[in-house]
Amino acid sequence: MAVRTFRQLAEVFDRLEHLTSRLEMRATLADALRQADPEDLPAIIYLLQGKVAPDYEGIELNMGEKLAIQAVAAATDAPPEEVAQRAAEAGDLGTAAEALLEVAEAPVEPPLHVRQVFETLLDIARATGPGSQQRKIDLLAGLLRRATPLEARYLVRAVTGRLRLGVGDATVLEALAVAYLGDVRQRALLERAYNLTSDLAWVATTLAHEGREALEHVRIRPGHPIRPMLAERAGSLEEILNRQGGRCAAEFKYDGERFQAHLQGERVTIYSRRLENITHQYPDLIEALREALPHDAIVEGEAVAIDPHSGEMRPFQEVMHRKRKYVTSDILAQYPVAAFLFDILYLDGESLLNQPYPVRRQALERALKPHERVSLAHRWEADSEDRLSAIFEEAIAEGAEGLVCKDMRPDAVYEAGKRSWKWIKYKRDYHGELADTLDLVVVGGFYGKGRRAGTYGSLLLATYNHETDMFETITKCGAGFTDADLAAFTERLNALRLDHCHPRVRALLEPDVWATPTLVIEVSAAEITFSPNHTCAFGLLRPDRGLSLRFPRFTGRVRDDKRPEDATTTAEVVEMYQRQRLVREK
Ligand code: ATP
Repeated sequence: MAVRTFRQLAEVFDRLEHLTSRLEMRATLADALRQADPEDLPAIIYLLQGKVAPDYEGIELNMGEKLAIQAVAAATDAPPEEVAQRAAEAGDLGTAAEALLEVAEAPVEPPLHVRQVFETLLDIARATGPGSQQRKIDLLAGLLRRATPLEARYLVRAVTGRLRLGVGDATVLEALAVAYLGDVRQRALLERAYNLTSDLAWVATTLAHEGREALEHVRIRPGHPIRPMLAERAGSLEEILNRQGGRCAAEFKYDGERFQAHLQGERVTIYSRRLENITHQYPDLIEALREALPHDAIVEGEAVAIDPHSGEMRPFQEVMHRKRKYVTSDILAQYPVAAFLFDILYLDGESLLNQPYPVRRQALERALKPHERVSLAHRWEADSEDRLSAIFEEAIAEGAEGLVCKDMRPDAVYEAGKRSWKWIKYKRDYHGELADTLDLVVVGGFYGKGRRAGTYGSLLLATYNHETDMFETITKCGAGFTDADLAAFTERLNALRLDHCHPRVRALLEPDVWATPTLVIEVSAAEITFSPNHTCAFGLLRPDRGLSLRFPRFTGRVRDDKRPEDATTTAEVVEMYQRQRLVREK
């Protein structure tokens, strides 16, 4: 079906919302993208993911619900109290707006065009300063007056930041491959371009206008973040040496916030691990980086909270105080940070992505001037277990979380957007428990009983299967939550509620409420076991059994820095299981 008008796009959203299979999801999307005007592709692709711009531009659609209620009231002539009441009853303002418009007169004006809606949403997102609240209300009301009920549902969800269809990047990439290259296997080519630019809409329009050639030659540019390379994990120092050719560079694993800084002349932009623009959180680092690195460059490092008096590293929780819209001078003084740089991807016009790690590290060493707040990640070379073990002890004693060991061989290039054995993380063993925590995606909730009535008492959690782009359940978890956590999760989950299992979730258990896979939380556990009730690696190691967790416990850490596709993967859990077995057998 052609997608020209917003009405047609809303119909596609509606279809996606009711599908139960990922393949159908891909086919529906491919169909819509194939028939779209290439000029509309950015609007369609961003809106599909509930956005108006790539994450790194930091333009967010999150109009407060109160304002949106006023806009719905203005457009439907219903009193705001009634709109609020209906929204509370439906648990969603979008559904309430849809119902209100169903009884209103049908719009007479020409239908809304996709791009027109997109531009208006962008205006709403960008409006700031005096009078901006009224402007947002007027803009949304203007759209709603011209919308059909179905369009209203999605317009309202979009502006309030609740349009989450659970369409992941991989699904969009596959749909584009099918639509424009006629073959889903071409996803790899598109993925590479995406890993280097982090902008799906750019990939789509370039493909539509210039064809595959243009994507084959895509180059990195400062100001366009690169999707980060990630580390594998190992269970022993011996394994690390084996995997990295008997010799590696062991760096401290700093426990702070990973960032990618882009320096262009006077301008410094800082991106988070999931490539959101977080420059405003680190005004002090901007200054420091500019002084320490007088170059055009893209560098990666960890921002770590430090003690203002001793300069010692502080736990990760402290750097999280910087996670706010306005970082005041009090916060800056109370929670000072230092940057430890561990990679450089671009220097004065040259991409270093294809250079081996030792060359990149050397370039970083040469480019960096000594600075109180910016230093190189501590690093030693090691070719024996004894040596690695001594470095590990030292890392822990200095307040690091462990080591990240880096392959020094000539093929150890920077693998954007990939988890690779060229980087291996090694953390402290938590007294016989699983050595590492897992970051799991919430895919459903079970109602609580007793004191927990009215909230979810436990959550259904899933790993991400990278091969199939599906979420596979691994455990039900009810431990480790404070009452405040549960209240907060209930609110967040209600916004993600579904009345059926999401097409990208494979589950055997039936929770009270399903959720669109969006929220990632950190969980610890005693061990990995088998279960007939969970789909993680189902049938892979044992027939009719999946992997599950014994004594799962929420650690208190919500991984808002991770997208659902950045959660612990099924393959990682399989490896963790095999490692656990080895340890037991020793
Ligand atoms: P974790 O939750 O264990 O921090 P992650 O999933 O966020 O892991 P991984 O790539 O698996 O990310 O682990 C490496 C992480 O360790 C990096 O994302 C980065 O934040 C952090 N880190 C700290 N020090 C270093 C270092 N010297 N080199 C690379 N990464 C480092």
